[in-house]
Amino acid sequence: MNKIAARCIMCGKTYEVAEDHKDYPKLSQAKDAVFVCDRCNYKVRYESEEKQKPKKPM
Ligand SMILES: [Zn+2]
Repeated sequence: MNKIAARCIMCGKTYEVAEDHKDYPKLSQAKDAVFVCDRCNYKVRYESEEKQKPKKPM
């Protein structure tokens, strides 16, 4: 399986993205394509969901 090295724009770590990863086509086409690793992706999603939640009445 082919792999490509991609650096996460959020944590700066370099990851090997395998062929079956959803971002692989994008990364293999453009070397400067933006990549966010799974961990940061999850974190961002979690934080944005937290912001969207209505505040609980006290
Ligand atoms: Zn990251």
